[in-house]
Amino acid sequence: MDFRYLGNSGLKISEITYGNWLTHGSQVENDVATQCVRAALDEGISTFDTADVYANTVAESVLGEALKGERRADLEIFTKVYFPTGPGAKNDTGLSRKHIMESIDGSLERLQTDYVDLYQAHRYDTETPLEETMQAFADVVRSGKALYIGVSEWTAEQIRDGVTLATELGFQLISNQPQYSMLWRVIEDEVVPTSSELGVSQIVWSPMAQGVLSGKYAPGQAPPEGSRAADEKGGADMIKRFMNDQVLARVQDLKPVAEEAGLSMAQLAVAWVLQNDNVAAALVGASRPEQVAENVKAAGVRLESDVVSRIDEVLGDVVEKDAGKTAETAPKQRMA
Ligand code: NDP
Repeated sequence: MDFRYLGNSGLKISEITYGNWLTHGSQVENDVATQCVRAALDEGISTFDTADVYANTVAESVLGEALKGERRADLEIFTKVYFPTGPGAKNDTGLSRKHIMESIDGSLERLQTDYVDLYQAHRYDTETPLEETMQAFADVVRSGKALYIGVSEWTAEQIRDGVTLATELGFQLISNQPQYSMLWRVIEDEVVPTSSELGVSQIVWSPMAQGVLSGKYAPGQAPPEGSRAADEKGGADMIKRFMNDQVLARVQDLKPVAEEAGLSMAQLAVAWVLQNDNVAAALVGASRPEQVAENVKAAGVRLESDVVSRIDEVLGDVVEKDAGKTAETAPKQRMA
């Protein structure tokens, strides 16, 4: 495993990070979830990402249980706050001081730890003054409940405003967590240059486009049993953006490119996001331990420039690059 610094900080994280969205507490049973976490640890993954909202808090509990007994200093544990959890009462959501202060305590209890390494604003809250949110994060850091602060799916301008306030308040905002893959490159024109300038890294989600870039979904055919696209508990709905025959056919055409690079398609997808210097980690999910073992082999891989160009040629116009999508896909108001 290779490790990278997270933003302009001294914290090192594994460049392949394990995330448990849609799997723990939902698609996969707890014993398989634990096997995936064990596989991740065995393969040298030290960084784990979750969120209070995943499986409505259950994903944090499953991860906390699976990591029990590990030496805490060897792990980097990340979680998030913003989306509603619990009964959905008026203050059970967003980035108000009240919701942040209550949420961090709930997350720490479920994760069975005294602190998280990174506490992330899961989205930007248009209803809370940014000053209030940042002051609350400053207090969370000062109380020792989180070591660093990150955000997720913020625009370049929001990241700049956040970093300015964090600097004034004396804590480190060091990461953004956006979607990024060969198929979804909307961060490249604005978020990445601004983040690089400010010392903020990207920890990128769905580098395999939720499994689509593994090549296992053939155009015109039903998804394989047990796959996310066949998961009626939530996965099928989440992945449907990529499940159209034009995208799936282009992805099939990447097979010879992967073969020539000596990688599986899944490894090619993960290696591709890691070629971007502003990316500190590829956040991969897994429904089976064997997937973890396969995907970690993307660590440390350098792709030749002709491989990168051929990927662009093959995928052509199915790639989404519009920088406006970050703002467009963000919630316009709190979800409660
Ligand atoms: P990926 O793109 O890595 O997709 C993972 C899924 O792809 C697996 O669950 C599995 O699904 C399939 N897969 C993985 N490896 C292979 C393989 N080798 N061969 C075939 N299929 C494979 O990432 P996710 O979409 O799971 O997201 C990763 C993490 O990112 C999340 O857990 C979460 O931590 C974070 N995230 C953050 C968000 C945010 O808003 N900040 C939003 C979404 C995710 P299956 O076997 O079921 O088909």
